[in-house]
Amino acid sequence: MATYITEDCINCGACEPECPNEAISEGDEIYVIDPELCTECVGFYDHEACQAVCPVECCLPNPQIVETEEALIARAIKLHPDDADLQKRAAENDYPSRFRK
Ligand code: SF4
Repeated sequence: MATYITEDCINCGACEPECPNEAISEGDEIYVIDPELCTECVGFYDHEACQAVCPVECCLPNPQIVETEEALIARAIKLHPDDADLQKRAAENDYPSRFRK
């Protein structure tokens, strides 16, 4: 599932710098997450970093976009070709993931 931001967003901006994929940006009315860039933090954290900091808990799993851990780590690898640590973690199948908590 990609994470998405609901209309409860108060535009505080706390989530934007937390995303390891730079998937969050200020939209026309509220902050938005690009699902093409969201990996639900798989490969980086065992939880969604935006969810952890959002003061109104409006960063939620998008039930319309359900994805496997396999697809999400593949996206992370593709998005960060120069991140040697991530590539190593992925190759060793030893990376943080919300699926492995
Ligand atoms: Fe909106 Fe929550 Fe992000 Fe603040 S942390 S901008 S309230 S989604």
